[in-house]
Amino acid sequence: MSEQSIKRPRGTNDYFGESAIALQRLRTLLLEEGALYGAMEVDPPIFEESRLFHRSVGESSDIVRKETFDLVRKGDKDYTLRPEFTAGVNRLVLENKLYSSPDLPIRFSYFGKVFRYERPQSGRLREFHQFGVEFLDKEVDLDTSLDALLLSVSATQKALGKKVLVQLNYLGSFASRERYKKALHDYFEPKVDQMCEDCKARLLTNPLRILDCKVEADQAIAKDAPSIEDYLDEKDKAEYQTMLSTLDHMGLSYRKDPGLVRGLDYYTGLVWEIYDEENPDFPALGGGGKYSSLMHDIGGPDFEGIGFSLGVERLLLDMSAQRKAELSLLQGPDLFVVDLAKDGKALEIMKRLRGEGIPCYAASFARALGGAFKMADRIHAKNTLVVFEDGHMEIKEMATRNQVPIEEEDLLKVLKGE
Ligand code: AMP
Repeated sequence: MSEQSIKRPRGTNDYFGESAIALQRLRTLLLEEGALYGAMEVDPPIFEESRLFHRSVGESSDIVRKETFDLVRKGDKDYTLRPEFTAGVNRLVLENKLYSSPDLPIRFSYFGKVFRYERPQSGRLREFHQFGVEFLDKEVDLDTSLDALLLSVSATQKALGKKVLVQLNYLGSFASRERYKKALHDYFEPKVDQMCEDCKARLLTNPLRILDCKVEADQAIAKDAPSIEDYLDEKDKAEYQTMLSTLDHMGLSYRKDPGLVRGLDYYTGLVWEIYDEENPDFPALGGGGKYSSLMHDIGGPDFEGIGFSLGVERLLLDMSAQRKAELSLLQGPDLFVVDLAKDGKALEIMKRLRGEGIPCYAASFARALGGAFKMADRIHAKNTLVVFEDGHMEIKEMATRNQVPIEEEDLLKVLKGE
């Protein structure tokens, strides 16, 4: 064999076998959890007009500044692989005029691939899956906001089978946030020469983003920056207080983090991130927040939203081996057929059984029967049917190893356990 020269791109995964099953099970589990909160699944395209992300995610966010996969131009429009779902879901709501529905809030969930041109490392991929929701309304109220937060927690806990910690912050109304940005600008301006190149750019585009910087020296400077809590107006403060006391009342464990601003430009109000309580150094499992100008920015009416997304690969990485084994448990076929006769009879039987909803798996075994039974065990088949050359058949229940002759007309009854 010549050496393989075409390999999987860096920062992507091949899903097959157990990992493919675990991914599929997580998808079902997470979407079902969303349905408990009234969210219906949507599936927007994987690529959108580049303008959608550049306008909505915000020119100053890292995602847009350097992390999007922009497709080579064909025709007269520029397209970009989605780096997140929020913008696409908002575009979908706008384009299909769903905002005029009398039934608000709109509650949508999603599960799918997103793409970011990042430096790959553990837990940081270029192609990964996100599960999340967007709840949209003319004004997102307290109940809707807390429902989104609670769903993000319950979905993560259900997936992992362990407790999570919420870190949260409150960015206030648009006006409060702008006042705070001005205060941050004034604080960082005299210090920015000592800071990284990204922070120099952030000072001009969105000084809030400096608080997100991962460079240690910059974090030390940011430690003494003004706090958002001093820039909230009375209405903001009252809403934040009600949220916190409701969460206290519900016994949800959270930590306030005044430096939490989240990567995208459009957040106002509540923002949060989810961490593994037992393993707090593990990177964020998910995050979310409220936004108020996104729909307007893409040409729609004044409409607010709150949403979160969980990184599915991070869930898989943080999961205990036992939980992963539970999730990826292979449900083998009801019937594994070893066709020694090869005269079409086995095929006919399988066609009939599949018509009755019985999953069948066939292997054309030329080897000894012992090998066939080993394969049946490996694929977790519940029963094995051997069709012998002379036409007679035997069925073996794999759990009990009990092997008996069987007639064709009795097969369905036996397989259905009747
Ligand atoms: P974000 O859309 O940036 O708020 O990210 C939401 C969640 O997606 C994060 O909390 C992570 O769990 C996950 N995530 C973000 N970026 C990556 C990445 N490059 N690779 C894997 N997961 C990611």
